[in-house]
Amino acid sequence: MSLTSPSTIVWFRQDLRVADNPALHAAWKRGGLVIPVFIWSPDEEGGWSPGGASKWWLHQSLRSLEADLASLGSRLVIRRGASLLELTKLARETGSKAIYWNRRYEPAIIERDKLIKAALPTEGIEAESFNGGLLFEPWTIANKSAKPFQVFTPFWKTCLAQPEPTPPLPAPDSLRAAAVWPQSLPLESLELEPKIKWAEGMRAAWKPGAKGATVQLRHFLKEPVLTYSNDRNRPDIQGTSRLSPHLHFGEISPRQVWQAAKSRGEAAGQDWKRWQFLTEIGWREFSHHLLFYFPHTTTEPLRSDFTKFPWRPNAEWLEAWQMGRTGYPLVDAGLRELWTTGWMHNRVRMVVASFLVKNLLISWQDGARWFWDTLVDADLANNTLGWQWTAGCGADAAPYFRIFNPISQGEKFDANGDYVRRWVPELGRVPAEWIHKPWEAPASVLSQAGVEIGRNYPEPMVSHAIAREVALEAYGKIRKVTPA
Ligand code: FAD
Repeated sequence: MSLTSPSTIVWFRQDLRVADNPALHAAWKRGGLVIPVFIWSPDEEGGWSPGGASKWWLHQSLRSLEADLASLGSRLVIRRGASLLELTKLARETGSKAIYWNRRYEPAIIERDKLIKAALPTEGIEAESFNGGLLFEPWTIANKSAKPFQVFTPFWKTCLAQPEPTPPLPAPDSLRAAAVWPQSLPLESLELEPKIKWAEGMRAAWKPGAKGATVQLRHFLKEPVLTYSNDRNRPDIQGTSRLSPHLHFGEISPRQVWQAAKSRGEAAGQDWKRWQFLTEIGWREFSHHLLFYFPHTTTEPLRSDFTKFPWRPNAEWLEAWQMGRTGYPLVDAGLRELWTTGWMHNRVRMVVASFLVKNLLISWQDGARWFWDTLVDADLANNTLGWQWTAGCGADAAPYFRIFNPISQGEKFDANGDYVRRWVPELGRVPAEWIHKPWEAPASVLSQAGVEIGRNYPEPMVSHAIAREVALEAYGKIRKVTPA
């Protein structure tokens, strides 16, 4: 089957949108037919095939992209299998002589894409890639010695000194429909949606897809952005943008976020480039910079002295942590929020991660794998940075001896205990004074609240004070191996 030429294949990956999509835009401008394709090839992700929550999101996001393409008069062709094989087959079927895509930055994907880029021209097919996912691609930013950055502040300062990212590209007005569309799999056949009831909480919490992303950004920029620097640490309120899964799947681009923040900041007469919110977008850029230059860090610590860290694997403790049964209310609330909605507040991510690696001495790699499976925003660059930062073994990391205290963190950032009450309902009637340390509450308070520690809410798995000493002793062992 050959369709009207010239036609260009646009290979959708983590750029599931039609606006500000440089590959789609270039194919549209080239004229002729555009064949949008998504290929499900989890085996090519180098051991990081999408986890359960990500697959659920991907299903919804592809459904939404199908609708957006349909509104332009086009379609999404869905395939599964080896990407190179599927792309060449599709090029043959459609008579396409060009394949365009937007770049990704994960190590295994870079290697795969390089092979594909080299192989396609030997078949007479032009291959071109674009930047659709970052404000500043890793190789465009370097320190004064022409080396990659390992500290955030000078990295972001250098980024902000670059020419501003170009304004977002418009969506195509319309795309010409093929007379005969190539064969496509039904989305359901990819079996991305979990069979168990697990997805109900995610469904209630999110609106995947580019439209959902735009609504979310607009809502956040209206008011919350103006109080973000104070509210961002409070898990009991919606003080952050909740854009992370939308950004991960490319339903919205960082350039669209930049541009919208700029317009809002200028309208409010504020120094928007210094907004804490934009700085967090900068951390996303930084994590991709690090992953690009230090690809081994998805599984190995950046600081090599940490390879000898005396972790204490413990399947039972790991499971209690995963299920939110540690006996520390803030930790349990976070892990239950994650299990239910596929997302956890950043402050609580730091607390639960610190609890795993420093109170339980279970490796950050185990924690990162759990997040990978359960986060809707699971992102190899951001997740690796987050875990290595908390464990103290990454770039610009929290020092190992900074051990988050789950009680005082709760008292500071969830002072009324509303966040804990939402996710740990068995503590619902415990007064604020005791909610972050219910085991210390007087017996009368507990009995009035209907709580029996050890029966309907667990005792603390470990004493924070003792665990702290044990963690510092373990850290002392690696410091002897490699003096700081
Ligand atoms: P906002 O506060 O509104 O920030 C806006 C955007 O900036 C986010 O959507 C995100 O894209 C980016 N961002 C914010 N904080 C960070 C950060 N610390 N590092 C990198 N980018 C950031 N984020 C992920 O997107 N995917 C992950 O897999 C992930 N794993 C993490 C694991 C740990 C242990 C920790 C401590 C953090 C992790 N983060 C991860 C970073 C952060 O927690 C989330 O990006 C944030 O909570 C998302 O909520 P938001 O969209 O409301 O963020």
